[in-house]
Amino acid sequence: MAKAMKYRDVERALLANGCTWKQGKGDHIKWYCPSSCGKHIAVVTQARNVSAGVVADAITKLACLPAGWLQ
Ligand SMILES: [Zn+2]
Repeated sequence: MAKAMKYRDVERALLANGCTWKQGKGDHIKWYCPSSCGKHIAVVTQARNVSAGVVADAITKLACLPAGWLQ
């Protein structure tokens, strides 16, 4: 099961895996999987802590990243 994480740790893992981001509405950040794939998008709220539900959603949505990329 996913665990809540600090946003900066999520961000670091995303960047380390070649993901890119764009500002969405409000405090939502759209994270795009590496351009070699380009088919997956996850929205992560830019708060100090990212809830377990959002962490799990990002792992599910960014399906092309290697298993265990975030947790
Ligand atoms: Zn992808």
